[in-house]
Amino acid sequence: MQRDLFEEEHLLFRETVREFLTREVVPHHARWEKDGIVPREVWKKAGEVGMFGFTVPEEYGGAGITDFRYNAVIVEEIIAAGASGLGFSLHNDVMAPYLLGLTDDAQKARWLPGFVSGELITAIAMTEPGAGSDLQGVRTTAVREGDHYVVNGSKTFITNGINADLVVVVAKTDPDAGARGISLLVVERGMEGFTRGRNLEKIGMHAQDTAELFFDDVRVPAANLLGGQEGQGFYQLMANLPQERLSIAVAAVAAAETVLRTTIEYCRNRTAFGRSVGSFQNTRFVLAELDTEVDIARHYVDRCVRALNAGELGVVDAAKAKWWTTELQNRVIDRCLQLHGGYGYMLEYPVARAWIDSRVQTIYGGTTEIMKEIIGRSFGF
Ligand SMILES: Cc1cc2nc3c(=O)[nH]c(=O)nc-3n(C[C@H](O)[C@H](O)[C@H](O)COP(=O)(O)OP(=O)(O)OC[C@H]3O[C@@H](n4cnc5c(N)ncnc54)[C@H](O)[C@@H]3O)c2cc1C
Repeated sequence: MQRDLFEEEHLLFRETVREFLTREVVPHHARWEKDGIVPREVWKKAGEVGMFGFTVPEEYGGAGITDFRYNAVIVEEIIAAGASGLGFSLHNDVMAPYLLGLTDDAQKARWLPGFVSGELITAIAMTEPGAGSDLQGVRTTAVREGDHYVVNGSKTFITNGINADLVVVVAKTDPDAGARGISLLVVERGMEGFTRGRNLEKIGMHAQDTAELFFDDVRVPAANLLGGQEGQGFYQLMANLPQERLSIAVAAVAAAETVLRTTIEYCRNRTAFGRSVGSFQNTRFVLAELDTEVDIARHYVDRCVRALNAGELGVVDAAKAKWWTTELQNRVIDRCLQLHGGYGYMLEYPVARAWIDSRVQTIYGGTTEIMKEIIGRSFGF
């Protein structure tokens, strides 16, 4: 079905992004996978072509355009290029709302120009060794002492964890107040007592730095509190999670589409029993099912993008998009891998890489089970 989400300017921007990835990313990605990290210079180069912070006002170096379709273009092109190491969507789609919507003028002036230029790489640290899905269970504390907070605790699985210059840390400012005791603080590279642990070894996304972070009596200026008020962190997180989940859903559909396309080509060209693999009825049926499901998913997600742009994307609709598209992504890629036979198990084939890279999609940003909890709760039983 014809896609009608984008206008001419998005298509032009897509060309820019594609050209950038072809030139600066694709030739080097295999090396970054071995290194376990993407060099910081790539972030600066991406900043130069305008890939960060579309929504950031022009006075801070951004384009001042609030239109998630640009974010979607970047996500889709990164997926199509197989550049799973780039933590750009975390920076653009997840972090921008925190640094734009919850900052005062002084904070904006400190952080946004670097955010846009790619000189300040961002991360969000919610998850801890003992608390992932259960955000209210975080143990990291931030105790007010004069005009500072003293932060203690540890985080794990943090995307951009090694490269990050600004980390939004979820901490308890009042451990007895439940959801009302959580606040968001920006911890900056170089603050005393802030250290990085291991760059974690994952089953996929090998070029992506996913790290442990440690906070040992880190004195964070009170001026780094987000939202200007203690105790609002949980609600601030809840407000921003739909956009994060939509970004993951956009990636899921793009990944499924990309793999489906290459698999159709593969089945056209591969022969068995003297005929193309694509000529077997089973192959055609499998591909037909997947193509149908991806098409349906695409239109739901595009509708969510429009809803987000209109300020109307609700938590429940975003949860539906997230769990359904990421489960679909895994299913599509797994079945496409099967159609590749033994070659599907070889890392030189894109389907194999997509298979290992996609597995995490149903886990981060809120697991499939938590998404179903959110939807189920909306029935008010
Ligand atoms: C590659 C990667 C990158 C990540 N990036 C970040 C990041 O940048 N920042 C960040 O803060 N975190 C990040 N995470 C963490 C991620 O968000 C968590 O792993 C995820 O939320 C699940 O938490 P958990 O691992 O503690 O699992 P748990 O919460 O321990 O869950 C274990 C299992 O129990 C199920 N479960 C839990 N509660 C319920 C329930 N109420 N009902 C039914 N089932 C339930 C879960 O669905 C899951 O299947 C990342 C994780 C990975 C793997």
